[in-house]
Amino acid sequence: IEELLRRSEKLNTVGQLAAGVAHEIRNPLTTLRGFLQLQQQTRQVKPDHLDLMLSELDRINLIVSEFLILAKPQAIHFQERDVRIIMGDVISFLDSQAHLHGIEFQLNFALESTYVHCEENQLKQVFINLLKNAIEAMPEGGNVWIELTRPTGDVVRIDIRDEGEGIPKDLMPHLGEPFITSKETGTGLGLMVSQRIIQGHRGTMEIESEEGIGTKVSIVLPVVQKNTSDTSEK
Ligand code: ADP
Ligand code: MG
Repeated sequence: IEELLRRSEKLNTVGQLAAGVAHEIRNPLTTLRGFLQLQQQTRQVKPDHLDLMLSELDRINLIVSEFLILAKPQAIHFQERDVRIIMGDVISFLDSQAHLHGIEFQLNFALESTYVHCEENQLKQVFINLLKNAIEAMPEGGNVWIELTRPTGDVVRIDIRDEGEGIPKDLMPHLGEPFITSKETGTGLGLMVSQRIIQGHRGTMEIESEEGIGTKVSIVLPVVQKNTSDTSEK
């Protein structure tokens, strides 16, 4: 029953989302059509218009790809993975981009191998979404602290904290809803997708933020209990 319930919730969300996605895609499509029609009538192509058309296409592409992550059939493959390694991969992937923006990642991984039952690519997606938000919140550069801790034996806690502009107060109650964005080219899907993925991993995600001070996102995930007294197993 619990599984059925979860599935129907998921369908519901995807249904609502599909309506939202359709709406969000129609706007750039309308713009694209307008420009094409203009070019057909005037028989000339303006470079400015081409730029606009390309950016509208990019926008559609971004919305669709973020949506696909959620809408993908959930026949996903859960495996035991070391969360330190997953985070490490994501950090090395984003490091050069962060440096370009004057951003330093400050790491505190003070724990041993910590295995979580997860779909690795989904967790990576969450970490990427959150780190990108942190980077985007600090246009002048700054620090992002990434901390992994074990508050209890059963869970691992992942804190991602930035010293950026903070989340506008009026957005706070709506985080996790689709298309909530304060950015000109934002999709407002990153946090919602992340929240859904963490829920799918039986974890929790909390966001604290203060305008002008920064933002902290905390994820708590259940860990796989390894029998550490058994040293014969690697
Ligand atoms: P997007 O990044 O496409 O706008 P998200 O779902 O990732 O969509 O984030 C939604 C909104 O939440 C952002 O537009 C921004 O206003 C706010 N936000 C999220 N993370 C942060 C952060 N670390 N610092 C400041 N604002 C944030
Ligand atoms: Mg984002």
